[in-house]
Formats: sequence, C-alpha cells, structure tokens
Amino acid sequence: MREFSTPMMQQYIGIRQQYPDCMLFFRLGDFYELFLDDALEGARILGITLTRRPRGKDGDIPMAGVPFHSADTYIAKLLRAGKKIAICEQVSEPDSKGIVDRKVIRIITPGTILDDRSLEQKQHNFVGSIEVTKKNIGVALADVLTGDFHVTQFERDESIAEKLGSHLLQFAPSECVVSLETYNSPELLHLITKHHNATISYLDDWKKKIKQSEKKLIEHFSVISVSSLGFSHLEQAVGAAACLVAYIDHTQQSTVTHLQKPKLFVPEDYLLLDPATVANLEIFSTIHDKKDDGSLLQSVDYTKTAAGGRLLRTWILHPQKNIDTLESRYDVVSLLYTNAEFRTQLQNYLMSVLDVERLVSKLALNIGTIASLLNIAQSLQVFLDVLPLVTNHQLKIFQQWHALPIKNIEKVVSEISKVVGEVETPSGEIVRVIKEHVSDELDALRVIVANGEQWIEQYEKDERAKTGITSLKCRYNSVFGYYIEVSQSYLKLVPENYQRKQTLVNAERFITPELKVHEEKILAAKEKIEVLEREIFNRLVETVVAELDAIKVVTQHIAELDVLCGLAQVAQERRYCRPTLTRKGEIQILEGKHPVLAERLGEQFVPNDVTLNDTAQQLLMITGPNMAGKSVFMRQVALLVILAQIGSFIPAHSATLPIVDRIFVRSGAADNISRGLSTFMVEMVEAATILQQATSHSLVIMDEIGRGTSTYDGISIAWAIAEYFVTHPQHRPKVLFATHYHELQELAEKYPESISNYQVLVENHADKPIFLYSVVPGAASHSFGIAVAKLAGLPTSVLERAQEILHTLENTGEQISDKKNVEFKSMPVNKNQSEVIAELLELNISSTTPLTALQILDTLQKKAQQQ
Ligand code: ADP
Ligand code: MG
Repeated sequence: MREFSTPMMQQYIGIRQQYPDCMLFFRLGDFYELFLDDALEGARILGITLTRRPRGKDGDIPMAGVPFHSADTYIAKLLRAGKKIAICEQVSEPDSKGIVDRKVIRIITPGTILDDRSLEQKQHNFVGSIEVTKKNIGVALADVLTGDFHVTQFERDESIAEKLGSHLLQFAPSECVVSLETYNSPELLHLITKHHNATISYLDDWKKKIKQSEKKLIEHFSVISVSSLGFSHLEQAVGAAACLVAYIDHTQQSTVTHLQKPKLFVPEDYLLLDPATVANLEIFSTIHDKKDDGSLLQSVDYTKTAAGGRLLRTWILHPQKNIDTLESRYDVVSLLYTNAEFRTQLQNYLMSVLDVERLVSKLALNIGTIASLLNIAQSLQVFLDVLPLVTNHQLKIFQQWHALPIKNIEKVVSEISKVVGEVETPSGEIVRVIKEHVSDELDALRVIVANGEQWIEQYEKDERAKTGITSLKCRYNSVFGYYIEVSQSYLKLVPENYQRKQTLVNAERFITPELKVHEEKILAAKEKIEVLEREIFNRLVETVVAELDAIKVVTQHIAELDVLCGLAQVAQERRYCRPTLTRKGEIQILEGKHPVLAERLGEQFVPNDVTLNDTAQQLLMITGPNMAGKSVFMRQVALLVILAQIGSFIPAHSATLPIVDRIFVRSGAADNISRGLSTFMVEMVEAATILQQATSHSLVIMDEIGRGTSTYDGISIAWAIAEYFVTHPQHRPKVLFATHYHELQELAEKYPESISNYQVLVENHADKPIFLYSVVPGAASHSFGIAVAKLAGLPTSVLERAQEILHTLENTGEQISDKKNVEFKSMPVNKNQSEVIAELLELNISSTTPLTALQILDTLQKKAQQQ
C-alpha cells in the first residue's frame, strides 16, 4: 500500500486495509468516493469519470465518485460484476483539524444484499457457507431477507461432487463463504463452483470460529444446547452454520437477530433432481435461450404473492415423497378446483398480501419504515380475514390453521394500526405518520408547531396590512429560518424593525425579533417531535420483531394457500386430473400431455398413454424418426411425476403413480451441441452416475444416448447401458429409452420379461412422412431420415443420390464409413458431385463442431451445384 501524508488519505488507507476483498465506498459530503485501484476498477465497471487529484507530495490520486442519493444503482451494478462493497460513513462532526470519524457501517455482498429492488421477487437469494474436512462437507444456506436457514452435511465419498453440486444448484446461492484454506485450493473451489457460479468469499479466523461454533449457535439462537437444534451430531453442519451467522453479522457490522433456527435438510426426504435433469426438463428455463418463458415453473405459476412464488419454486425443486402430505395437498386443490368461487374469493384476498417475510427482516435489520409496518399489518389482516373462511373446511391443511399463533398476529396488527397510519396532506399527498393519541407529549408538541405556523400565517397577513406591502411573504429555509421576503418595488415601504439578511435579484429578505421568538418555539418542538417519533417507531418495531416467529409461520401458511390456489386454478382451467398415488408399483398414465407444449399447441397436441412396470414394461425402447415426438413424450412422463409429487393435479385423463425417489433425464450429444466439444465425455460421465445411483424406485430417461460417437461405438454403449438397467436387481429403474439405432430393438427379444419396443407413429404419404405423435407398441421399421431431409429442403439431386446410396447399403449391409465398399453409380453425378460425396464420407462428424459443419455443408453444396 502507498504511504500518504494527508490525514484523510491516512484514514482512508487504514480503513481500506481492514476490508481487503471489498471496494470501499468512502463518504465525502454528498458523494461516495473510490480511490486508487478501486477508482480504476469502479470507473471501468460503472462507466463513471475517473479523475486524478494532484495531492502535493502524495502525487496524483485516482479518484471516482458516485452521488450518495443514487448509490443503489451503482452498487447493484458492482454486485452483478461479482464485487463486494464496504460502505464507509461519516460518524462524527469534524474535529479541530477538520477530520471526521468514519466507519464501515455495512458490507454489501451478492448474498447479503438488502435492497430487494435488485432481486427477483419470486426467488430466494441465498448465501451459503461450506465447511470442508477430509471426511465430510457441511453446508449452511441462509436467505438474509426472508430469514430462511437450512443446513446439511455430506460424506466426502466418490459421489460428493454430484451431491454437493445438486444441493448448491437447487438453492442457487449467489455467494458462498469458505475458509481461507478452501479459498486458496483450486480443487475445492472447483468442487464448489462446478454447477453454479456463486461469488466465493472467505472469512477470517475460520478455524477459531469452527472451534467456538457450538457457543456461537447457542448464543445466536438462544437455545440451551445445540442438540435442541436437531443436528448437533453433524459436526461440519454445525461449523458451517456458525460461520455463516458470523459472516452475516460481519456484513451487517452488527448482530443479526431475525434468522430462523436452522432446519436440517435431508436430501433423501425428497425426490432428487440433479442439475442435468433440471436443465433437460426445462424446469426453470428453456435449454436453448435460457428463458423462463416455456419452462415448467412459468407454466404452472399462478401465485399471487412473492412468498407464494418462492414456495412454489421450492416445491418444484424438492418434490415430496410423503404420500400423506401429497394427498392432503390434493384435497385442497380438489376443493378449490370444484369450488372456483371460493378460490377466487381467496385469491382476491391474496392480491393484497405484500412480501411480509422481507418486510419483517428489514425491520429487524433496522432498515424498515412506517410503510413497511403498514404493509405488514395489511397483509396479516388478510390472514385474519381468511382464517374463518379457511378453517370452515374440514381439510387437514386447513385445520392446521387453528394451531397458528392467531392471538400474536392480532396483537401485531392492532398495535401497528393503533400507532401508525396514513394521512392526506392539504396538497393531496399521502404521508405515513405516527397517529394522534399515541403519545400525549407528541400531541402537545404538534399543537405547538401548528399554533406556531398559524401564528406565522397570521403575522404575514398582519404585516401586509400594516406595511401595505401586498406581496410580502413569510417563508422558511434551513439557512436562516423564517424570514420575510419583500420584492424590489416595495422596498421603500419596509419598516425600521426589519433586519436585512439577504439580497436577491428581485427581492430582499428580512427577519424580525418576534418572528425569531416563534421560530425558536417551532423548531424546538419539531426537534423533540423527531426524537419522540423515532422512539415510538422503534418501540413499535421491537413489538413487531418480537413476534417474528409467529409472523413467519403465518406467512408460510399464506404462501402455501397461495400456491394451492394457483395449482387449483391451473387444474381447473386445463382440466387436469387428480393422480392416484401408490407406494410402489406401476406408472400408468392415460392420455397424458406435456404441460407446457400442450398449452402452446392446444387441440393439436396428441395425448399419449404410458405404462411402466417391473415386468415386460420396465424399459420401453422407443424408435421413430427425428421430429416424431420421442423427446416430448418421454419428458412429459417425467414432468407429470414431478407435478404429482409437488401436490399438483396433472394433465392426463387419469394416472396411477408410485412415489419416485429420483428422476434422471439424459440427452444424447446431438441435442446438446451448445455445450461444447467434450459432449460425448459429459454424456458418458452422466450415464455412469445414473448406473450407480438409480434405484428400483427411480425413473430414467435416456434420450438418444450414444449419439456423440461413431455408429458402432454408439450402438454398443447404448446397448450395454440398456442391458444394465434390466439385469441388475438393485438398480432396476423404470426406463424410457429413445434411440435412432434400430438395432436396439433386438433387445426386446432378448429380454422380453423387461423390455418392450414402442414406436412413434408416422404415416408415409408419397414418401413424405406425416407425424402422428402417437406412441404405440411395436418397432419403427423405417428411419425416414431422407424424407425428413426432404422436408428440410435439401436439393432433389442430393436426395436422389442419398436414396441410391441407401439402397446399396441396405443390400450390401455395409457400414457407411467404409467408403471403399460403397459402389457409386456414376450416371447422374458429375465429377464435382462425386467428389462431394467422397468428402462427405471422409468427414468425421463426431469431431466436427456445429459451426464447422455448417461451413462444410455450405462449401459442399456450392461445389455440388457447379457443373
Ligand atoms: P424427436 O425427439 O422424436 O425428434 P420431439 O419430441 O423433439 O421429436 O418433437 C418434435 C416436435 O414435434 C415438437 O417440437 C413438437 O412441435 C411436435 N410434437 C411432439 N410431440 C407432440 C405431440 N404429442 N402432439 C403434437 N405435437 C407434438
Ligand atoms: Mg429428440
């Protein structure tokens, strides 16, 4: 670090050194200034002007500033760029040397940001902490703005990357905190960041904090011992939780009190969806353009509240395995489906529910306002209003509402409405204030102010009359308080007792002793009012924050009601059916539809039946040409299972579904070209995971696996994988297997007790395929590749030639890559064209990137067109 001679720069450097991984926003008057390297970086990221201040012997100091009042936008931008920001404020008046004390009052990081304007409403923003030992990995995750807190622990075995990856991907923390050791280990960092791109931060004194972690948790959550939190046997989870609390305290530079007690997250309690499956099923965003539109979530999200939106997302990420829970959700959906009037009534109430979770946290973090309090009261009032409507129905979920802390909520609502409210000013503006009759003292002070202001009004009138200055005005400004303004033309009428204070272009300003006497009264009262109002506000905030647990649990029930209303609305509008759940047994869906595509295609969407069981239909080998509907059909089965296991009705005529423990969806390289060159490798690694982890309760979808390599390799691998699924007693998942290798159809003859062939129907009209999108038993005979190429507009000469080659190949049974054995009829082909074919045959498609392939295609076509 550079040495500086000016006291301010010395102060700056002193503070800057304490926050080495942050950018320091140094408050100077109305600006936050960045200096030195921060200034260079800030100017680059924010596009603000970089200046250099010559500072005598200190040389030039790079400097860049952002206005205090618009700092939020700049901070949001820096956070998006992965930066952390320490906010340094002036905390005293200037001393004799003109230096003010400055202190970092808050550190803003991607995971601990409190300004929710830059966050998604319907998504959590988690910050994680990860404690790594040789044996285990403990993970804690907290949403600072809602107070949610989860912990878990994994054994560090060979599937640790998978398990940790899935977990982090699901909670999607925007930031993870680790020890300095982990921070400096590329291998560990890779493990943590493999499936998501959180900012990684480190926390000092990690080891010491780990040693004291039990104490920290006991203090923080006011529990007698850590065992009452329910996860004390998981040492690394305890460590991670304690370090996370320490980190959050550090960023807020105070003790944070509103976090919920950590809940132990047990992955086995839920249907597990790994990162590849979530992506392939387009659950949260589409594969190609990464848009929400077209995703499962978007399609079924009819929630009205932010908390409801977050809960639905959580449910979809962690579908249930508990039949009772699911049945009681179905019961509610069923009621709200048939009784649409009741549902609409509830939804109308829900529309006025605001984001109470975040509002309460803000109060607890001392950044709440009177508006936050009013919004909380308004939302909790909705709870009190719907309570009798809801408990009126004898359903398990609704009856649970009786057990909610209703009295506490009533108290919160009545306290808030007693103390604060909205009033309309004479100018029609709505302002939020501490009400009348809350404090006698406050009322009295307000009377003093009102009287004083009235006196001034009267004084203005009297002075006008007395002096004859019709334009005389009494006004106030912060520099010299109340004054009398007289315009130029009337100056000669100004009486003796007026003391001149200021001269403007067209007027002069005066004060009088009487005016000052009243001014003092008014200002003194106003000052007291401010102090008193703050006191009353803080007391009210305390009362509300004291009921945090009650508010949180009620908010969660409101959110659940919101989600269930939304699911019922979807079910009713789209005529979904209630699935019949079984603990195990066959999957049987009649007239199932793809929830997203069926909405887009409407009547044109062709529903399909499917049966998967432990016998002849354990693995369905599905063949059919490209574009026939194989991928849609298979994904639809997975999506229906997920919907059923969140408690939703499903798009089908009827369905019997067993509880599924895991869903794996893998798609061959050809469908995933955007992921780069090593796709085949990725495909194989992923296939390996499935083979290890799929159980007899799992659902596996293999979509054209083995496509990323040469034909023989591909067939062999696909064949072996399919065989594995039906021959390993512990790993006999239900499998949908789509392939364009017709050779695999033979497997059904070899394993008739497990495998059945299915095909997607295509009618052949004058060699032009008509897709019927119906999946029926049997094996597709014909790959229609050339017909599909024709639909795509390949030149006729190429198509005819391809047809000829196909015949030759079919007759000789030769491999296409074996160029020497293919005999070409020379007749309709010119020299260029035969060279084109030779080049085509030479081409190694599996090692060609999509872009080069297009370029090659272009060159070949041009060449073939030449005579
Ligand atoms: P494949 O995997 O066999 O190549 P896809 O499943 O990707 O084919 O489907 C190709 C297109 O066919 C889809 O994008 C969709 O437009 C249409 N399609 C698929 N299934 C159906 C269906 N059941 N009803 C109507 N159209 C469908
Ligand atoms: Mg496909």
